[in-house]
Amino acid sequence: MIAGIDIGGTSTKLGLVEGDRIVGRTRMATVGHADPDTFADALAAAVRELVDQVGGVLDSVGVGAPNGNQHSGSIVQAPNLPWRADVPLASMLGQRLGVPCVLGNDANAAALGEWRYGAGRGIDDLLVVTLGTGLGSGLIVDGRLLLGPCGNAGELGHTIVVIDGRACTCGRKGCLEAYVSIRGMRETFRELGGEPRVLHREGVLPITEAAQAGVDEALQTFRSTARWLSVGLSNAVAFTTPRRIVLFGGIARNGNLLLGPLKERFQQDLLSIYQGQVDLVLSELPEDDAGILGAAALVSL
Ligand SMILES: [Zn+2]
Repeated sequence: MIAGIDIGGTSTKLGLVEGDRIVGRTRMATVGHADPDTFADALAAAVRELVDQVGGVLDSVGVGAPNGNQHSGSIVQAPNLPWRADVPLASMLGQRLGVPCVLGNDANAAALGEWRYGAGRGIDDLLVVTLGTGLGSGLIVDGRLLLGPCGNAGELGHTIVVIDGRACTCGRKGCLEAYVSIRGMRETFRELGGEPRVLHREGVLPITEAAQAGVDEALQTFRSTARWLSVGLSNAVAFTTPRRIVLFGGIARNGNLLLGPLKERFQQDLLSIYQGQVDLVLSELPEDDAGILGAAALVSL
């Protein structure tokens, strides 16, 4: 069996995968460990414990992490993780567990998860876009996950969609992620003059609830977000010709608030030769499963 590990900013999810099923799972905190070594110790112990519980033999480990570089097996200065330096976690876990360990970036893991187990099954030209705190994406072309020299090819988050637009966390202006992400949507709501008290709670849920209650600025926030995302996706289609685009993450899972206006705009923005040839669908995997299955799928690349 394969251990699939999904490292997030606050919690790390861990599952054992046999065939296409998760046969055991647990989670632990990502934060609160003194250094990467103690984190690796705790993670290896959690893997061993889960293998003992389930009963079976561990063959390999796959890890999906923010800023994971599949070539080096390191997490490279991830802004949302507690460690600033590069962390060679693949070799650290491999040594502790005595099995091969592959580490890749979380957006690629999500893409693989959808391709192997989810809404992208059987589609060899596939774009999977993760909408969350940021915007990540992974691209499968001709039946192969694109990696590039740094392991992060196929990323749309920092493509510029608005010239001289909003400041982005990368230091530039107008990136897609500055508009289409939780942070971006909260900024849009603010710019549209939405009531500040709606934003007292974190995340995108308060805007979703306001939109469901018919609040104009919230509905407009979803429409504007759909507009920017449509530009990003139709550019991606012109450039890489996926046959299917899978949207993954909390922002996408809100009924038709985003998907409705997005589908409408997307058909208008698509190059005419691709009209009707690109499906736009939501992930079919439960959110907790996707990261685990995707990380496990990194092993069999
Ligand atoms: Zn950027």
